[in-house]
Amino acid sequence: MSHPGLLDHALLRLDAAAAQLEIDADVIEKLKYARETTKVRLMIRMDDGSRKSFLAWRCRYDDTRGPTKGGIRYHPDASADEVEMLAFWMTFKCAVMNLPYGGGKGAVQVDPRTLSKAELERLSRAYVQAFANIIGPDRDIPAPDVYTNSMIMGWMADEYSQIVGQSSPAVITGKPIALGGSLGREDATARGGFYLVNHLAQDLKLGASHSVAIQGFGNAGQHYARLAAADGHKIVAVSDTQGAVMCAEGLNLDALFAAKKDGKSVAATAGANGHVAISADDLIAAECDLLVPAALENMIHEGNANSIKAKVILELANGPITSDADAILEAKSIVVLPDILANAGGVTVSYFEWVQNRQGYYWPVEEIHERLKVIMEREGRKIWGVATDKSLSVRTAAYVHALSRLADAIEAHGTQNFFTS
Ligand code: NAD
Repeated sequence: MSHPGLLDHALLRLDAAAAQLEIDADVIEKLKYARETTKVRLMIRMDDGSRKSFLAWRCRYDDTRGPTKGGIRYHPDASADEVEMLAFWMTFKCAVMNLPYGGGKGAVQVDPRTLSKAELERLSRAYVQAFANIIGPDRDIPAPDVYTNSMIMGWMADEYSQIVGQSSPAVITGKPIALGGSLGREDATARGGFYLVNHLAQDLKLGASHSVAIQGFGNAGQHYARLAAADGHKIVAVSDTQGAVMCAEGLNLDALFAAKKDGKSVAATAGANGHVAISADDLIAAECDLLVPAALENMIHEGNANSIKAKVILELANGPITSDADAILEAKSIVVLPDILANAGGVTVSYFEWVQNRQGYYWPVEEIHERLKVIMEREGRKIWGVATDKSLSVRTAAYVHALSRLADAIEAHGTQNFFTS
């Protein structure tokens, strides 16, 4: 399935931000298109001896601010358009956080659940062989994304090191700790969002103890629940693909974690500890102060945005709110802390991993938490300032903030004005 116009849709954010700044036309011309998107067909041998091929892409969207950075997604619906849209988002996310990176992304069109572990390894190594001249510690640095994980990053780092003939851990982030991964990467996305909400709590009119509903109870959702509950907040509703539960007095997190560990749905906890089964729509409409979408794209749309009662939405997922829904939420004065800021803790600790690999010196987890906190608070505060000063949504403010950094870098490389004035 292809997604025509996904990048065009994402570019509307660029237009909205550009309208707020005096931007040289050359800057927009540069940011409107991906710099390079390479498509290949990976051919691997399957366990039964047959050969099978898979479409794969790597996009380096823009590298003005540094080597491109972005995950590799394994998904049957992956497309070039989607890869370019995700690489565009990464360009802005890295600029939001002032990381010395441009934006990139990669994908393989595959359902990884249909492959054996050995086939998955061959596919992952084939990806690196195909893109060995594109990726590199100073050129383009992949990371995990949907349906890829640290095991796959380990294989990829190893394949790259074999190709270049030397250990090269900084080519990829999200590696296992034993292969040069960073401490603190596991919960970095949730932790970054948590620091952001804490820092802006007063401005967001969230009380010292607030109630939270979380859509999606995977890596990001579970860690967010743990961090928020430990800080005295109440997790009142959570969901996964198979169901949802709520408890106004606060869910029992141990029961939820145990269910997930057993491979069950959060819905399996209903009936005990005051947990009540609810529908996916009920979760979106739950009575709570903070709603945290931590599942997939486009989950909050025109059809359900009106039902939201939360005061604030923290987008731990990438692109969980459609632009139609954005307009509805703005009219309802619901503050959205946008993905390119809210979930940027993940890429920030990936950046720390890259820095540690290059230094050959590894930081304790406390140092990683502290450095992440400083960056989240600094950039969150700046964006909040732009939103208040210019009366913009936080999303548009985040794009304005990133665009002004990108524009500075592009202009410093030389635009028409630069040469003619
Ligand atoms: P994950 O696969 O660990 O968890 C996703 C969860 O969402 C699962 O519990 C799944 O059951 C649930 N889910 C899927 N469809 C759902 C639906 N229709 N309703 C309710 N729940 C549903 O993934 P993750 O790593 O936690 O990532 C979640 C989101 O956060 C994604 O959008 C991802 O791009 C984004 N994100 C993650 C990271 C990271 O470091 N993990 C970084 C940046 C952004």
